[in-house]
Amino acid sequence: MLNEKELNRHPCFNVKAKGQYGRVHLPVAPKCNIQCNYCNRKFDCVNESRPGVTSTLLSPEQALVYVDKVVEKEPRISVVGIAGPGDPFANPDETLATMRLIRTHHPEMILCLSTNGMHLAPHVPELAEIGVSHVTITVNAIDPEISQHIYAWVRDGKVLYRGLQGAELLLARQLRAIALLKRHGITVKINTIVIPGINDHHVPVLAATMKELGVDLLNCMAMFPNADTAFEHIQEPGKEMMERIRDSAEQFLPQMRHCTRCRADAVGLLDHDKTDEFRGCLSACAQ
Ligand code: SF4
Ligand code: SF4
Repeated sequence: MLNEKELNRHPCFNVKAKGQYGRVHLPVAPKCNIQCNYCNRKFDCVNESRPGVTSTLLSPEQALVYVDKVVEKEPRISVVGIAGPGDPFANPDETLATMRLIRTHHPEMILCLSTNGMHLAPHVPELAEIGVSHVTITVNAIDPEISQHIYAWVRDGKVLYRGLQGAELLLARQLRAIALLKRHGITVKINTIVIPGINDHHVPVLAATMKELGVDLLNCMAMFPNADTAFEHIQEPGKEMMERIRDSAEQFLPQMRHCTRCRADAVGLLDHDKTDEFRGCLSACAQ
């Protein structure tokens, strides 16, 4: 297990580390188990910079080869994460196999996952055993009356739930997963996508509840109105609105203010991104 000093090398969770250390995202998780109304996943996109986008997909074994090559060329990488392009736990076999391979072959790496939390809870003990130290869950509301407008559906096994029922199920799963993560000593960040007119007024209440659950950090992210989504006509919240929301949430939880809304195949330092530079290497590893 990594010690506290080593864990402090995570550039997203520790702003002081962002100029020294970087992350690599492994695009091993293509499927998703919910549909957010702001998400449009693309698998072969090279010129967009946002979550859900990757230029290719890797198997766990290919991901290991890719990490070997990346750390050889960019030794400042301290974090290996999985952030899609779908959800890590809609692809649990690939996610867990990848995390195990990286832990075995790169024991110095911080392991990190970003998920919607729907199918996370049953895997928390195994994540702790592997040594995954940082998990991010996207929680956009703690009131299903609000979140029913954010999700088109959530899927549990073969059953699709829509509207209030889907929102209630997702929230219950998220709250259970957060409590379990904290019980296992895992550092938890919440990403909240701020959607004007839907949840912008709700963030302080959400932050207060997350604090009660022992969450470590809150990252309020401006919704990007992606084309061909239900929210494409909602205007992206401006800097002023985001700062006001972060300031009001900060009375409950520390705020992440340096997020760069990374792609599912992002690599490099947050302010010195090398995703373009490594694209050839990524696609060569996928062959
Ligand atoms: Fe897209 Fe992530 Fe939402 Fe799935 S959980 S629909 S990948 S934003
Ligand atoms: Fe870090 Fe934000 Fe990028 Fe995730 S999207 S790796 S939190 S900077």
